[in-house]
Amino acid sequence: MASAGKEPSASHDPLKTYREKRRFNRTPEPSGDVVAATGGHSFVIQMHAARRLHYDFRLELDGVLLSWAVPRGPSLKPGERRLAARTEDHPLEHADFEGIIPEGEYGGGTVVVWDRGTWEPDSDPHDGLKQGRLTFRLDGEKLHGRWHLVRTRGDGKGEPWLLFKSRDEAASDTVDIVAARPESVLTGRTLEEVGEAKDRVWHSNRPADDTVSKRTQ
Ligand code: MN
Repeated sequence: MASAGKEPSASHDPLKTYREKRRFNRTPEPSGDVVAATGGHSFVIQMHAARRLHYDFRLELDGVLLSWAVPRGPSLKPGERRLAARTEDHPLEHADFEGIIPEGEYGGGTVVVWDRGTWEPDSDPHDGLKQGRLTFRLDGEKLHGRWHLVRTRGDGKGEPWLLFKSRDEAASDTVDIVAARPESVLTGRTLEEVGEAKDRVWHSNRPADDTVSKRTQ
């Protein structure tokens, strides 16, 4: 176990909420059993056609993906602030998830890996998280340059942050990046193509047991 990562402890398990929200015998998403032992700085943005379309913006920190749901997606226009609601930390393996979460399950709908790459915080991201202000560079396939995430109030999860671009060489006042580049960076497919690919629907051979409650007790 130690070689693969650290087992989440009862006192601080960053993926507890993630697991509690999902039934892993029904959703194809990864179960997040192990918090990865890594100091990596990957990022991923997943376009997610749930009840409402949104973009899940995720930054790797301490072996999990810090997550925000951005209804309108990122904007390259400097200062154009996009609401980003903090959501539960996700397991690193989730960065590879593209497919269909069945209807009726948490987050039911189609997921496309819209962008991914690495992020580089300007200063200690732990301090930034506490203070509600993260400034960082993205080196993805679609997004580049310096970005900001700023909490507008409160200090807990589910609180509103704002995502916006610095003015730099990667900024644009004219390009609507979410409209111009809707495709998956993993497969080149659109949301519609992923949604129609029935092979991506995950069929369970496992019994419908209470995996989730056992795991979290
Ligand atoms: Mn989502």
